[in-house]
Order: sequence, then structure tokens, then C-alpha cells
Amino acid sequence: MISINENYLKLQASYLFSDIAKRVASFQEKNPDKNIIRLGIGDVTKPLPTACIKALHAAVDEMANEATFHGYGPEQGYAFLREAIAKNDFQARGADIAADEIFVSDGAKCDTGNIQELFTTSTKIALPDPVYPVYLDTNVMAGRTGTFSGGRYQGITYLDSVKENNYVPDLPKERVDLIYLCFPNNPTGSTATKEELKTWVDYAHKNKALILFDAAYEAFIRDESLPKSIYEIDGAKEVAIEFRSFSKSAGFTGTRCAYTVVPKVCKAFDSFGDKQLLHPLWNRRHCTKFNGVSYPIQKAAEAVYSAEGKIQTRELTDYYLRNAAHIKAEITNLGFDSVGGDNSPYIWIDGQGRDSWEFFDLLLNKAGVVCTPGAGFGKCGQGYIRLSAFNSYENVVKAMERISEALK
Ligand code: PLP
Repeated sequence: MISINENYLKLQASYLFSDIAKRVASFQEKNPDKNIIRLGIGDVTKPLPTACIKALHAAVDEMANEATFHGYGPEQGYAFLREAIAKNDFQARGADIAADEIFVSDGAKCDTGNIQELFTTSTKIALPDPVYPVYLDTNVMAGRTGTFSGGRYQGITYLDSVKENNYVPDLPKERVDLIYLCFPNNPTGSTATKEELKTWVDYAHKNKALILFDAAYEAFIRDESLPKSIYEIDGAKEVAIEFRSFSKSAGFTGTRCAYTVVPKVCKAFDSFGDKQLLHPLWNRRHCTKFNGVSYPIQKAAEAVYSAEGKIQTRELTDYYLRNAAHIKAEITNLGFDSVGGDNSPYIWIDGQGRDSWEFFDLLLNKAGVVCTPGAGFGKCGQGYIRLSAFNSYENVVKAMERISEALK
């Protein structure tokens, strides 16, 4: 008899985006002439930078010619891209990361979801609330949680990210082994200082724990004092793995390219308590289960680091940050407390006592604007909504005019 992995039955169906879609469809049916503005999604709206498109076209032409054709490439990524990443994203900021510590992949979603395979089932997990759901669900699938009750899974240490701690969680009271952190954060848009990250790095050393640091939104950081990488913190290389993506920094959500950094000194422990390096383990997993990102896409990603590409990707993130600044200013004028929006494309808004879905319905029905209800990201998200800066500036201005009118 073939039996299923019953951990899958513990998963809560993710109704968030289908519920949103249903409510939007029903509103549109009743108001066919109303133009709806979507500030709910976490997907970019602007096209790829010209430098990337040029590189992509050239690489496609190479694939059409027997002399320059590429078949399977190295699973970890081509040296040209790994070297460009190491040099520009790390060494240029004083973080000593080498090209062979970079693993190129087709998404930070897959990488943040797959990484837990390296650790034993009894690993004690800590993750933020509210949270990017992939970290939680992949651990549920792997059997690291009990059942879901009262809005939370048993066996998980939830790190509340709330107004009182400025949306940067405090260290857990109990000992944990594996800690997920994400800055700039999705969904809250909060950022962490070097000092704050240092407390987590120190915790990991002291408790023989490991940090999984998701930096998918680092390209939106403008405050020079904020760290873009956890490796800007002394001692992080031994205790942290970092995830990055070209999705939001260069518009690759549909093109797919990302990478994970596993430093050669980064470690975990076996059942005898002996140190085991994670680099060879991740290399083994990656090469066994993944056959590399396509050559043209890696060439397009490499172009992000060309002189032209650097200017164009900066313009791209500046564009969304201008949207974010407008949302933030308008929502503040309306008297709402919020976080994010200055070094992040997300603005996390306290609904002043409104339930998340009630606030969602109000914005949809009175303003024709779609947001994301915070409750969909965890218990601590109740009472909040997330507005995203991924839309045109004109739409953002129009949306905020309508929201101002609706909330007056
Ligand atoms: N990590 C976070 C925090 C995200 O919000 C997202 C996408 O929204 C991802 C990772 C996924 O990135 P990718 O497109 O590289 O899979």
C-alpha cells in the first residue's frame, strides 16, 4: 500500500490569495466600470533592464550556433556569474565571500524551502510572525511541527515581530537550533541594524544554532548604515546561510535567477556533537536535485553587474522606492502608524483596531484598491494590511487619492 506523508495533511490551505481573488472578482462583477488598482502583490511590474535584455538576446543567439552552444552547465552556476556576485555583492562591501561559496539557483523560494533538508527532523525551528509562508510550510511538510491549533503550529518557536520591538524580533526565551530571519522583511518592510543582527549571530554561536538569512529585498536598502548582508557582521560566516534573488532587485520574477551563499566554514553538528561543514552537504543536495539555471538567464543576471546594469537596476529599485515613499507619506498624513517603505517596497500599516479583512474590504469597496490582509502572514499580522510599491507611480498616486477619500 502506498502511504502518503501525513505531514501534508497538517498544512493549512493557503486561502489568502484565492480569498483575495474571489473578493476582487465579486467586487468587479458588481462594479464593472470601476478600475481596480492592485497594491497587494509582491510581484514586480516593470520590464527587465536593457542591459539584461541585451545579454539575454546575445546568449540566445549563442545557443543557435554549434560553436557557441551550451548544454548542461555547472549545477552551482557558471563561474562568470558566481565571480560577479562574490565581487560586487560581498567583497565590495567588505564581506569576505568567495565565488565557490555561491550556489546559483532558479529562486530564493526553492532555496529557502529546500535548505531544511540538511537538518534532522528534531531540529527546533524559530521563525518570525508575520512570516513569508515558505519557511513554515516546508518545515511542516518535513514533520518538524505538531498540529495547527489556535492559529499556530505546535513545536515552532514564533518570533513575534510587533510594534513593541519595532518589528525586529527579540531572542527566543527557549533554546532553538535553526532561526529564519528576513531583512528587509516581507511582509513588514522592517529592517535590522548591524547591532541587532550581531545579537542573533552571538546567539547562534552560543547555542550552536544556525541562521537562515533571507536578503531577497536587500537592493531596496538606501540607508548606508544598514547591513545588506549578514556577512557584514563579524563571525556570521560560521553560523549563517544567506539567500538572495534577482527577482526584486532586477525584475527577474518571471525570468528566475537567485543564489544561496554557504560559506565554507559554516557548520552544524552530527549526532555525536561533532562539527560538520554545510558547504559539501548543500553542494551534494544541489548537484543531486538541480541541473543549473539556463545559460541565457545566467548571462542576463551577469549583466546586472555591468556598468550599465548597475545604473539601470538602481533606477528600477528607485522607481519602486518612490512609490513606497508616496504611500508612506500619504498613509502617515491620514494618521496611520506604519513601518517599512523607506528601505523596502512594502508598507505595513496598523489598521487602528480594524480586523485585517475588514480593512481589506473597506479599501476594496470604497477605494477600489487591493491590499494584502496582514492576518494571512501569521497571528501577529492580525489588524494590519500590507501595501506594495510594485505598480506604476501613476497608479500609486491614484490609489492613495482614493484611499484618502475613502478613509476621511
Ligand atoms: N524570499 C522572500 C522574503 C520573498 O518575499 C520572496 C518572493 O516574494 C522570495 C524569497 C522568492 O524569491 P524568488 O522569486 O527568487 O523565488
